[in-house]
Amino acid sequence: MAGKRDFYEVLGVDRNASPDQIKSAFRKLVLKWHPDKWVNASEEEKKTAADKFKEASEAYSVLSDPDKKARYDRFGEAGLGGDGGGAGFGGFGDFNINDVLRDLFGGAFGGFSGFEGFGGFGGGQRSGQRRVVKGRDILTRVYLTLEEIATGVEKEVTIERNERCPDCGGKGTKNESDVQTCPVCNGSGQEQRVMNGFMYTYTTCSRCHGEGTVVKNPCRSCSGTGLVRKRATIKVKIPAGVESGMQLTIKGEGHATKAGGINGDLLVVIEEREHPVLRREGKNLFYSVVIPVTDALLGGKVSVPCLDGNYTIDVEPGTQSGSVVRLRGRGLPAVKGYGSGVGDLYVKFLVWIPKKLKSSERSAIEAMRDSSSFKPDLSRDDKNLFDKMKENF
Ligand SMILES: [Zn+2]
Ligand SMILES: [Zn+2]
Repeated sequence: MAGKRDFYEVLGVDRNASPDQIKSAFRKLVLKWHPDKWVNASEEEKKTAADKFKEASEAYSVLSDPDKKARYDRFGEAGLGGDGGGAGFGGFGDFNINDVLRDLFGGAFGGFSGFEGFGGFGGGQRSGQRRVVKGRDILTRVYLTLEEIATGVEKEVTIERNERCPDCGGKGTKNESDVQTCPVCNGSGQEQRVMNGFMYTYTTCSRCHGEGTVVKNPCRSCSGTGLVRKRATIKVKIPAGVESGMQLTIKGEGHATKAGGINGDLLVVIEEREHPVLRREGKNLFYSVVIPVTDALLGGKVSVPCLDGNYTIDVEPGTQSGSVVRLRGRGLPAVKGYGSGVGDLYVKFLVWIPKKLKSSERSAIEAMRDSSSFKPDLSRDDKNLFDKMKENF
């Protein structure tokens, strides 16, 4: 089977990416393409998202497994075996996407829908059982500042939704006797059609849309639908530490159904507003500050914006441009159930060198040109920490 994209390309990493880079790339794709995020999208968009998600999961299932990765690197997809039918690695083998997601996003899934109710993205529909009618879910977004994320916050969201008609209690009519068994499907909700003269196929009943009943004298308030449109404001408690793309499920606050069904859920997607100066990566925060060369040489103080106010920190004499200090515990807390502890704030110093000097300054510095103190000695650089962290600034 041709045309499967290269797994590295799918994750957007290069061939010598570290396990952490692979993980982080997959994490971003999950936050973007997970089917839960596309509940309100068109069918076409849903399909695209599901395909992208599946593709990313497949790539990650291989590249996150050192053994499979090694075989893939050497032999390409053929190295993964499969059933000999060219199916690549049919199914996902021992790769359980829900376990992986739990691992990537931390422990239990607490108040988040996490990625439950998923699992079936490639498969067909469940059938055979009479299903309880559930109202549609409503997807909405809340926009949070890092300060709000640091402490957790309660937000109000306003949505338009279907609620049960108060006049008929969602039955669509005032008289019980007006609710009658659908004459087309005899209450089964499904119509049987004959194909080819001998095969049967079932479709949702065209008359009652699968409900099995029809209403004779429809309620005037809702025209027999049992539903009325209402605007509702819902308070949503958002735990500290959430990230863009995470989703909170508030059970039963979505669209209602006619009598007999259950309400859909309200899905609240977190969107993080960009902070003017701090950058975030998971629990950690990053801040770059420009200091004068005199402070870099002689030491000084600098004010660092933390989420709970400004902190003054020391600039050590001899601070290199690009060196990093870590303020422990000044990052963000992990979301409950997703991890533990509090992240750190990394501060990077950038040394500003003046372009113009007064002549007295120039001659003072000229006098130091040949001093051994001014000969570069790279061993003193805080290189390791900087190299490790530079991609985050
Ligand atoms: Zn009504
Ligand atoms: Zn029917």
